[in-house]
Amino acid sequence: MVGIMTVEAGVVSDALKRYFGFDAFRPLQEAIVGDVLAGRDVFALLPTGGGKSLCYQLPALLTPGLTVVISPLIALMKDQVDALTTAGIAATYLNSSLDYDEVRTRIDGLRRGAYRLLYVAPERLTMPSFAAELEGLNVTRFAVDEAHCISEWGHDFRPDYRRIAELRERFSAVPFLAFTATATDRVRADIVERLELRNPAVHVGSFNRPNLTYRVTRKKRSPDALIEWLNARPDDAGIVYVGSRAGADDLAERLKRAGIAALPYHAGLDAAKRSKHQERFIRDKTRVICATVAFGMGIDKSNVRFVVHYDLPKSVEGYYQETGRAGRDGVPADCLLFFNHADVAKFERFIEEKETEAERAVAREQLERMTRYAYSNDCRRRDLLAYFGETFTELNCGGCDNCLEPRPAVDATTDAQKLLSCIERIRRSHGFGVGIAHVIDVLLGAENEKIWRWNHERLTTYGIGKDRSRSSWRALADEMIRLGLIAVDAAHFNTVSVSAAGREALAGRAPVIVRELPEATGRTRKRAPGAISSADGPYNAEVFRALRDLRKELADERDVPAYVVFSDAVLRSMARELPRTAVQLRAISGVGEKKLADFGAAFLEAIAQAGG
Ligand code: ADP
Ligand code: ZN
Repeated sequence: MVGIMTVEAGVVSDALKRYFGFDAFRPLQEAIVGDVLAGRDVFALLPTGGGKSLCYQLPALLTPGLTVVISPLIALMKDQVDALTTAGIAATYLNSSLDYDEVRTRIDGLRRGAYRLLYVAPERLTMPSFAAELEGLNVTRFAVDEAHCISEWGHDFRPDYRRIAELRERFSAVPFLAFTATATDRVRADIVERLELRNPAVHVGSFNRPNLTYRVTRKKRSPDALIEWLNARPDDAGIVYVGSRAGADDLAERLKRAGIAALPYHAGLDAAKRSKHQERFIRDKTRVICATVAFGMGIDKSNVRFVVHYDLPKSVEGYYQETGRAGRDGVPADCLLFFNHADVAKFERFIEEKETEAERAVAREQLERMTRYAYSNDCRRRDLLAYFGETFTELNCGGCDNCLEPRPAVDATTDAQKLLSCIERIRRSHGFGVGIAHVIDVLLGAENEKIWRWNHERLTTYGIGKDRSRSSWRALADEMIRLGLIAVDAAHFNTVSVSAAGREALAGRAPVIVRELPEATGRTRKRAPGAISSADGPYNAEVFRALRDLRKELADERDVPAYVVFSDAVLRSMARELPRTAVQLRAISGVGEKKLADFGAAFLEAIAQAGG
């Protein structure tokens, strides 16, 4: 039934422009589309934002019959179908959010062949009546999105995904396509085996996200630096990840008080509130979402301009996935991690509370890698890609703090000796250790209850560090911990002591050279964008804002997310090229035929008005 189909290359690129408005394929898309059109089984591993959906959507338009897309997230299905419909592509979905009549109507449409794509949740596949129904629908191929959900070894196992194998048996002549952004070798093998892929065409893309800039910044107690950073990019929306539910609520509140439209999102909120907050973020009605990692999987929003981690992530893998939600539209986006040693210490305490030694060992290893990443003076991109077994060969990536603003090495021997000798003296004065905060209090000559109680105002190191601020002592201490000059005892309230290496430094036998983490400020700007996509380069900001307002208006009228109308990348191109005619507008990447017909006149008018 489904034979090898020959579709000429010209037809494929015409459809790419006509339906999606794109002038060129992203890496691997063309090869994948070719294999799909040839009727092969396909396994494709592309990073988030790599453009996986197009790999099955475009073939669906070029071949007869129905493409069935299996997708784990009900919330996402509607957005995806809305996006397709807005682009003039006949698509629908079936899931438990629809009432019986609506399901009937849609199935009637499917029987008439009114749709090219059908999105379903895996639980529907377990209904025998549904599988029987599918047999009558001339299914051309099955596309399994988030295919790693089929594997127990993945982080996102969904038992219902196992039922997909039953489909394979029932539809033995129909090709299966598997797409994922996360897969270790083991998960990859599992996907191929569980889906019983037959001699699949395997495509593995680079995990490098050239439009993302990675930075690590010093974390302080107050969120002022974050507020300043957010205020410096008033037009950008993004996610701030926080380690705990209370932390998410707190931070959202602090940001709100500072005049930033922010909402919390975490598993402690009731379902209605969660989906309301998510919806407001997706629909560009709130600028910042302060969330725990519970947020993100169901987010298709392409114009997330930044992902900030306000607390230390659990693992580098998690960090990469979470930052991956930024900049799916290919426009430059920022990833910022707030870091200090106190967060590491907090994690260490959590780890000690874990049940088994095996769990503790895994968690320790993950924390160790995450800490190494945060402290690293090397290219962040190279570090991140190395975790995925990928070698990044360029010397300067042009998109991380260490490549853009290498931190100078500073000789901090004198101050380091003050700190070390203060730790020594406190230990000697009463035989037990204290935390680093108290050591710094002594250096600063602080007046507080603990100082009086222990008579620490009598130590010779009391007040000898007044020429440095508390936060800069803290940063120096963090560096010294990293360099192994100060030992921290996680099992005993994080008390500090001078290590063997520290003794060498104290005796003046080894200099202490540090590179402290900088603080984020409003001036921590985006990098000058490299040649990543046509969406780069300067554009008229005033026109962009006018177009963004228009986009929001049109999206609200249609009850769809703003990015469904046009992505940020498209608006930027419009605001740069200031097209005056429909022909010029259509030349912009991302403007397809249907959108030109529906929105072209309104955007041309807005450009004429705002841009002159
Ligand atoms: P993934 O599912 O791999 O994370 P998506 O399919 O959601 O990625 O695509 C991410 C974004 O990239 C979307 O906004 C999509 O419209 C855009 N996109 C996909 N292919 C292209 C292309 N060839 N040129 C420009 N933009 C593209
Ligand atoms: Zn770099």
